[in-house]
Amino acid sequence: MIHHQVIVVGGGLAGLRAALEAAPQVDTAVLSLVHPVRSHSGAAQGGINAALANMEACKDDNPEKHAFDTIKGSDFLADQDAVEIMTREGPACIIELEHWGVPFSRTPQGKIAQRPFGGAGYPRTCYAADKTGLYILHTMYEQVVKQGVRVYDEWAILSLIRDGDTCCGVVAMHLPTGQIEAFQAEAVIFATGGAGRIYSNSTNSHICTGDGMSIAYHAGVPLKDMEFIQFHPTALLRTNILITEGARGEGGYLVNRLGERFMEKYAPKAMELAPRDIVSRSIQTEINEGRGFEDGCVHLDLRHLGREKILERLPGIRAIAMDFAGVDPIEKPIPIHPGQHYTMGGIDCNYRGETGLKGFYAAGECACVSVHGANRLGGNSLLETVVFGKLSGARAAEFVRGKASSQGNANAVEQALARVVAETEKLRSADGKEDPASLRLEMQKTMADKVGIFRTKQELAEGLAAIQALQKRYREIRLNGRQKRFNLDLLRNWELKGMLDLSEAVVAGALAREESRGSHSRTDFPKRDDVNWLKHTLAFHTPEGARLEYKPVTITRFQPEERKY
Ligand SMILES: Cc1cc2nc3c(=O)[nH]c(=O)nc-3n(C[C@H](O)[C@H](O)[C@H](O)COP(=O)(O)OP(=O)(O)OC[C@H]3O[C@@H](n4cnc5c(N)ncnc54)[C@H](O)[C@@H]3O)c2cc1C
Repeated sequence: MIHHQVIVVGGGLAGLRAALEAAPQVDTAVLSLVHPVRSHSGAAQGGINAALANMEACKDDNPEKHAFDTIKGSDFLADQDAVEIMTREGPACIIELEHWGVPFSRTPQGKIAQRPFGGAGYPRTCYAADKTGLYILHTMYEQVVKQGVRVYDEWAILSLIRDGDTCCGVVAMHLPTGQIEAFQAEAVIFATGGAGRIYSNSTNSHICTGDGMSIAYHAGVPLKDMEFIQFHPTALLRTNILITEGARGEGGYLVNRLGERFMEKYAPKAMELAPRDIVSRSIQTEINEGRGFEDGCVHLDLRHLGREKILERLPGIRAIAMDFAGVDPIEKPIPIHPGQHYTMGGIDCNYRGETGLKGFYAAGECACVSVHGANRLGGNSLLETVVFGKLSGARAAEFVRGKASSQGNANAVEQALARVVAETEKLRSADGKEDPASLRLEMQKTMADKVGIFRTKQELAEGLAAIQALQKRYREIRLNGRQKRFNLDLLRNWELKGMLDLSEAVVAGALAREESRGSHSRTDFPKRDDVNWLKHTLAFHTPEGARLEYKPVTITRFQPEERKY
């Protein structure tokens, strides 16, 4: 049995930031499925928001305006106390990243440059060309190495360990050997990222399977607001590779088959820089009503930006467009359509990362604090990872310092280990008639077809029935590879159970919520309904499926109003 006072699960930005905060105070380790710098955070392109007011065009910006834009963007579902903390802490977090060595792009005066992003009143998004996440992640990993934080990579956690109302560790599998081990801890922080891969049309990496969310859910911790799934307006045709919002931030146009800049009709003021829910619905409407191009896309036109700007600010997306669509954006528009991008919901926690389970914390995309409410603004997710990574790391360290060692939980730990070993052995010898890869594809297609940008009662009910049928078929699954070393089949099968349960929570929440708010757009209930639905959904896992409860939204200073852009 391995012991650390704090175990952070996840080596993305939220996990590394949490570890950097806790490690100087208490014995802290990071456990990660992939090497930290291969986490999905490294794929973030466009930038990170903070009201630094560095550009002439944003000299009046401040954290309060950032908070208002975020809350309005969230369609008033975000908890306003948490948003205010995030936007207030933002500038200091960016300066800290800069001091650690993040090579941010600069203004001619040498300040950190900021670009406009959707739903923001000012250019507020700090960036490092169009590879912001990559640079921040590598820089933060350097700090982790410098501090000597222990990192266990290629360990997949399979379960939380709880002793009554207290969390006392995790059970994990070492992929290279297949060894299953208990990690005992006085505090566990989940920073395991999003669940985009429950959809077939996702911009997320293959590892974004929502493991942390489903493991917490199975351990009795509720998930919050799972029905709110973000569809990014600009995913590359067919491949769903993300084309950053920064492309529109730099001035890119969206154009339909008739050559119209159609955003004029939907958001006359903000145009291409309206929030993502609105731009995605607009693109989808153009396609559905026959004004898209033949292959079901519209165009993102950057040609007028000129060669120099594209090469300097958007070199990464130029390479993606050339390599994956054979299009050089300097010469031709990029074919795009909306794609699943972000999980607004997640593990129910507050701004210090605290969940209902003592000693168990969550931060980053797997968590729902909630600062994004029903629709996240671009650039706010990277900010969330650093701000709430830091706060949860601080809180976990504080909790651990006041607590005796969890050695008293040895029984609970042994039992959890034995249970997981027995379950994985059962899975290893599974010999049913169902092929897990087909189940996964059916799940992903169901989510894309039935729980997409526009939703109706009938489609959601069909989606729920389809997911429940897949959950039943999962019981008759078979495993193709039986080896111990690098048994990715075993891991995929384990994940699949969690992904099906997460999908069920998403659909159940969406079916119950009879209103349209942010990314959740019900054509049968087209209006936002604050009287009945200004509340967070909580999904609890039960043997019969997701059980839903609701809890109030925290409103501090911004009363809900109609969203216009
Ligand atoms: C293509 C793309 C571009 C984006 N661009 C931007 C942007 O410009 N600005 C912005 O604000 N946001 C952006 N986002 C969103 C943002 O990048 C993510 O929300 C954020 O980086 C998530 O960070 P994280 O630390 O929570 O999780 P991740 O970076 O996803 O890390 C998750 C970690 O958990 C570990 N893990 C997962 N499962 C297990 C398991 N079972 N056992 C052990 N470890 C596990 C993984 O190894 C990984 O280290 C983008 C997202 C995508 C997909």
